[in-house]
Amino acid sequence: MARSFMPAFRTQDELKALQLAGLKWSVDHAYNGSDFYRERLDAAGVKPDDIKTLDDLRRLPFVTAQDLQNGYPYPLRSVPFEDIVRIHASTGTTGKRKVLVYTSKDVDDWADMFARCYETAGLTRQDRVQICVGYGVWTAGVGFQNGCERFGAMALPLGPGNTEMHLQFLEDFQPTVICCTASMALLLAEEVEKHGLTEKINVKKVIMGAERASDALRNKVKDLFRAEHIFDIPGLTELYGPGTGLDCEHHTGIHYWADYYILEILDPETLEPVREGEVGEMVYTTLKKEGAPLIRYRSRDLTRLIPGQCPCGSPLPRHDRISGRSDDMFIIRAVNVYPSHIDEILSKEQGIGSEYQIHLDRGDDGKDYMTIRVERAAGAGPEGDLEIGKKIGVDLRKSLLVRGIIEVVDYGSLPRSGRKSQRVFDHRN
Ligand code: ZN
Repeated sequence: MARSFMPAFRTQDELKALQLAGLKWSVDHAYNGSDFYRERLDAAGVKPDDIKTLDDLRRLPFVTAQDLQNGYPYPLRSVPFEDIVRIHASTGTTGKRKVLVYTSKDVDDWADMFARCYETAGLTRQDRVQICVGYGVWTAGVGFQNGCERFGAMALPLGPGNTEMHLQFLEDFQPTVICCTASMALLLAEEVEKHGLTEKINVKKVIMGAERASDALRNKVKDLFRAEHIFDIPGLTELYGPGTGLDCEHHTGIHYWADYYILEILDPETLEPVREGEVGEMVYTTLKKEGAPLIRYRSRDLTRLIPGQCPCGSPLPRHDRISGRSDDMFIIRAVNVYPSHIDEILSKEQGIGSEYQIHLDRGDDGKDYMTIRVERAAGAGPEGDLEIGKKIGVDLRKSLLVRGIIEVVDYGSLPRSGRKSQRVFDHRN
């Protein structure tokens, strides 16, 4: 019989007991193994023995990406070099690379976590997995690969490769699962259709990671491949790599591996927990990681916890897809606003295009004002502007509790960019 990678705990009390034991171990391990952590904890006046309940987590100081960069080349290292079997590094788009060290147990744990992803996606050992993400010093390819082998499915380790080879493999080896970024999935799906291969391939599941993908894109990929499921795989190098959770076949949110790490969702300004179900910054504390443990690591990624139980019955908690970065947040009239929220609200409105801008101004009365400039839909005239503006204003107030001035402008009048467009303009200073 195939081995299961699901956790042994069944109740939330059992999970909390596991987490407390892991937290105690991690703080002790980091304090005794790393100068960085010892100095930080001493400065905060916390000793490992002070951790008696899960609430004591909140006494611990935060770790940031800046700390990892300052500690280059071996930040957070908590074991001797002889115990390190591998390093991974972030691609280093901003400043220095973040380098993480792994012990043999870390590599092993990561493979188990990743195998759990495949199990959550409903794979069996009969499945064949075409891995189309990059292999290298970053954590993608090798994570998908080791997890697949640990799980017992057949891996086809292509990497991003060339399209021709991907198509050939899809036809000749009949993979049932492909793993790739969202843009790669779309590209491959379109090529499959273009080459008339739809009937000749057998892709049932697509596991997409690394990028935010719209529902429209996901549906298109699903249709073109005639796949049954699209899954979202989260992960970051600091926390092993990809494979730290997955949505199950019910797609009600991403089950995350709470027996390997504690996920706090905090208000990025106050660093206090948000109310249940509200969006905040994902802050990670690992429970088993040896090489480079994380204690309250601020990821800057935003999401919310999903309350209640998934229909699949799993006791693993769920978080939503990642909706943006806390660096993008702005405050208006004491309310934290994320551009991704406004994006979400606008994408549900009728009669407008996809481009918009947010302008923040300080009025003569000393109060802050937010103006949202949206484009009318292509081909629509200005006669509907008043109605559209009113509706958006109401929806905005309902979901964000902030008032906004809505300006509807001509279709095509806001600047376009192939890259990430600037959407927030803060004129208050
Ligand atoms: Zn589920």
